[in-house]
Amino acid sequence: MSSETQLRIPGPTPLPPRVVHAASRQMISHRGQDFAGLFAEIITGLKAVLRTENDVLVFPASGSGGLEAAVANLLSPSEPALFCSVGAFGDRWADIADAYGVAVVRLRMPDGEAVSAQDVDAILAQHPEITTVFVTHNETSTGVTNDLEPIAAVVKARGKLLAIDAVSSAACLPLETDALGLDVVVTCTQKGFMSPPGVTMIAVSPAAYAKAELATLPRWYFDFAREKSYQTKNQTLTTPALAVLYALQESMAMIREEGLENVWQRHARIGMMIRAGVEALGLRLLAAPDSRSNTVTAVLNPTESPEALKELLTRLRRDHNLVLTGGQNELLGKIFRIAHMGFITDDDVYAILNALEDGCAASGLMSSTGVAAAAARAVQQQSSVPA
Ligand SMILES: *Cc1c(COP(=O)(O)O)cnc(C)c1O
Repeated sequence: MSSETQLRIPGPTPLPPRVVHAASRQMISHRGQDFAGLFAEIITGLKAVLRTENDVLVFPASGSGGLEAAVANLLSPSEPALFCSVGAFGDRWADIADAYGVAVVRLRMPDGEAVSAQDVDAILAQHPEITTVFVTHNETSTGVTNDLEPIAAVVKARGKLLAIDAVSSAACLPLETDALGLDVVVTCTQKGFMSPPGVTMIAVSPAAYAKAELATLPRWYFDFAREKSYQTKNQTLTTPALAVLYALQESMAMIREEGLENVWQRHARIGMMIRAGVEALGLRLLAAPDSRSNTVTAVLNPTESPEALKELLTRLRRDHNLVLTGGQNELLGKIFRIAHMGFITDDDVYAILNALEDGCAASGLMSSTGVAAAAARAVQQQSSVPA
């Protein structure tokens, strides 16, 4: 990646130079004292970022492995569970449960809309046999953030377990694991954590461990209790993804230095700047106004066809050093997405918006007059959060 390239796909996200450097260190024994020290520091950092006193288990896998681990540990065959989906990643979690023979109840919102807590409550009232609820915090495929507070309130009021996919929110958006009583929170390294892909991190509450003791879905590699028996000794059951853990140690040092709440505020400001810039170009957003994500923006296809959209994305990459991505599944050809999570500054936002504007102009969609960056700058100046 040349230094000017803006890799703005929703994972993997760009690595800070410090993190690249950390990841290139020599291997160590994962049964030795040095590893125990590294591991203890990482777990302390993860608890701080996820705002939890619960255990955080770490497995070598991408985020989907963490989603699978949650299903396999919390449920038994034919057990009824509610999967609230607002897009491709919510659908994936339900599909994983289907593959395991869970009695999946799906609440699927139209693309661009968030989960309504009232709908969740109505389904739980109608199906009291449901034991566990699964919700995506930030749906990367549509650029929608679900408001977890009211959802957690209704799920907890009915005494159910709540599992959250925080893969594209953790370390970027406010996420209060313990204050909201979230039982399982799944995330991974290659998005907000500014690290290479390869490790999934899962916060597990005491109630979730208790449920796992009763849950009989088959599992070995991802078994919470087996992994915990090692991690309490600052080791891992299998060989850890050491280079990824080196990176994670460094990226969490960066988060600590900036301050977690400052990181959240930077994402909030940058999300507003991106949306203001994109809308100033006359482009339209997929997500409903009150649930727009501060880590990924889904923009409706501004061209006349899916092929023309593909050409626009190619042009942005080839001529303007901006790497964006299209839609997933049914949204292929209908949207493109700009990720703004992890290692991103206000200056990056201007670079992204200028490249997008130039690329759209070169595709004949508009003339390039600097309106996008100007709109972002206006938002930045109004923002109470200094750059
Ligand atoms: C990226 C992502 C995942 C997991 O994807 P992997 O490619 O398996 O790491 C899961 N959920 C959401 C919301 C995501 O954005």
